[in-house]
Amino acid sequence: MKRNIKKIMAAFTLAATMMISFENQMVSFAEFGPAKGADTGYAITQTVGPSVPAAAGSGTGTGTNTTASAASISPFNTNVYGTPVNGFYCDAVTTYTYENMQADISALQSHFGDIVKSGVLGVTADNRNIYELIVGNPQAENQILLIGSMHGREYITTQLIMRQIHGLLSMAETGGGVNGQGAAALLQSTCIRVVPMNNPDGVTLSQFGIAKVNKQENVANLLAMIEHDKQRENYTGDTDWYFRRWKNNINGVDINRNFSIGWAQLDDSRYFPSYEYFKGPSAESEAETQALIKVLTEADIDEVINYHAQGGVVYWSYGGATDEVEARSLELAKLVKQDTGYILGAASTNKNSVGSGAYKEYLAAKGIPAVTIEVGVGSCPLPESDITGIWGKNQNVLSDLIYEINNR
Ligand SMILES: [Zn+2]
Repeated sequence: MKRNIKKIMAAFTLAATMMISFENQMVSFAEFGPAKGADTGYAITQTVGPSVPAAAGSGTGTGTNTTASAASISPFNTNVYGTPVNGFYCDAVTTYTYENMQADISALQSHFGDIVKSGVLGVTADNRNIYELIVGNPQAENQILLIGSMHGREYITTQLIMRQIHGLLSMAETGGGVNGQGAAALLQSTCIRVVPMNNPDGVTLSQFGIAKVNKQENVANLLAMIEHDKQRENYTGDTDWYFRRWKNNINGVDINRNFSIGWAQLDDSRYFPSYEYFKGPSAESEAETQALIKVLTEADIDEVINYHAQGGVVYWSYGGATDEVEARSLELAKLVKQDTGYILGAASTNKNSVGSGAYKEYLAAKGIPAVTIEVGVGSCPLPESDITGIWGKNQNVLSDLIYEINNR
């Protein structure tokens, strides 16, 4: 029943989206449009160029990363592999890498068995896997999609999501539950599809710079991008700091501007591959974008939880959503707010937006409710130690969502 209604809604929404004009196209926050703000962090304090220390120690950097005052000091943490806690890297306080995630996926499967399955949704331009975890019963009536690290420098969201999965499976294993309902039973009637690191190339660039790029052709492309951005932004900072702030994929494309909804009309203000914002050479050109479309075809997804950083805010309202989809998204956002204490984003003032290439708008056109949770406060990448506070606020979110979807 629920599914039939959703399919009808999706068909209606697609038709409505095709009919509406895009003259009012405008969005109010950075995830979904050209305006800077929200999870950009840097744009708030700086109008020209990345807010990083300038080259040769000239001291003109104005951002929050200025504790390293000279170009000779690398922004990259060389002690990144940490020590796993009881076999899991995600539970440590560490720079959480692609390799750490791979190890944790293996650890989850060896500890918890068939209740967690893994697959690969696609392979990136620098030859990394875009993993999917399927937690719970794949055939379940209730299907939740959980996504992290669409943006490279927001990699703390991957660590958070892996902690949530580990925590949930531990709860099921030890007989725990939510409000008297056992987690093991809830996972029989629920499936969580997880894309913990949508953009592993971008994550690795933000954590290591050019040193861990796999393909030489990508190194050449990246060097062309930094040259272009130096001219465009009058940027004089050094190369390491440029890559430290990497938000896009390794092709210099912002995945959250690469979806087909409103892509053609979107002016990304870049017109060239860059560390942020560029919408790409064509709609859905990127493996990371295609992976998030593909995962929607695997099951009838009821709701999507997108983790980004930063801001301490939950977005739920966006152009193109029907009243019904928006009402459900607001219910989810209120639940997240209750757990995290994050503020709710404002209602969209532009319901007829044709979109800005963003995933949430793509989901809206398909009639799928979604929330975007912006964790943390500060400039991305957030300090590794921030995982402790972010975990404190978000540790019950996933289990509470599962309880809620089973009891609504
Ligand atoms: Zn983001």
